[in-house]
Amino acid sequence: MNCIYHIQNPVSFICIATHKCELDRKMCVECQKEHGVDQQQTLPLKKFEEIVKNNFKEFQLDDTSELTKERMKCKSMLSQTESSIKNVLDEISKLFKQTFDRIEQESKSFTNLINDNPNLASISNIELNELVEILQGNILNKFTNQKKLYLDRLERSRFWWEQEVKDFGERLTTVMNEFIQYFSVKPVSLDADHKLVLEKNLLIQELKELKNQMICQEMELDILKFGDTNITLNVKSFSTNLSSTFQMQLKDSVSDLYIKAVQHGIHKGSPQDCCLLVPSKNIKYALTEWNRKLYEIFIPNDYTNKIIKVEFSQSR
Ligand SMILES: [Zn+2]
Ligand SMILES: [Zn+2]
Repeated sequence: MNCIYHIQNPVSFICIATHKCELDRKMCVECQKEHGVDQQQTLPLKKFEEIVKNNFKEFQLDDTSELTKERMKCKSMLSQTESSIKNVLDEISKLFKQTFDRIEQESKSFTNLINDNPNLASISNIELNELVEILQGNILNKFTNQKKLYLDRLERSRFWWEQEVKDFGERLTTVMNEFIQYFSVKPVSLDADHKLVLEKNLLIQELKELKNQMICQEMELDILKFGDTNITLNVKSFSTNLSSTFQMQLKDSVSDLYIKAVQHGIHKGSPQDCCLLVPSKNIKYALTEWNRKLYEIFIPNDYTNKIIKVEFSQSR
């Protein structure tokens, strides 16, 4: 390609100066002399190409192995889910089938005694004895009751199952919506991320100091994030003394932090003895009692015990 200003010369340089280039960055030898930028900012075409290529190489833009690996992980997670659901369905369908078959077979074993032997005078003694026993005893009554029980159990199981599936589906939908929201938020820039981490550390420091003021030294559970761990949470009501256990998944968050779980007897008699400090937006539950559902709680990073004891103070 030739220079549009010096039509006899080929374009042989690229201007890489950080300015609005009046030559559209394409220059011939003469343009280069006239352009008035530092020589180092005008690269020979070949050199320019080489630098760009090296740069791309350095950032491994061609290398898709990491993406492929992550893609496989997601795929395998989904197929594992599929197969574990399928296993459960297979098991349960086997169980139902066995139960129905059993009822049917027993039922048949009675009727077959007659159906297979149209002439009762010629049947075997054993079979005849069975028939007589059936007539004398409550065998058929017992069988009918047994069958009723089985059918009743089947119906209860079905009801129970349907309920569980419904709940499960709702939970999955919630999770899916959270995923959608999660991915629709643009990742923050590294700088912003860094700033958040700093802020978090500051907050953690403040909270640690607060802890020391309030609860002496040995309070081991406190603050900080935990990230998607399942814990068992024992919750005790201050006012009623009732307690309950929740399975909870802890959520990680950069700036939203903590619950403060306070141990028994640390501040004897003080209202803080069983207080729970919760940034209320983090813990979505009715503030007055624990027995509405708890959803999210933030727990210390270094907290390794899977059971945590929490009490709500009267004022909350
Ligand atoms: Zn230029
Ligand atoms: Zn030129």
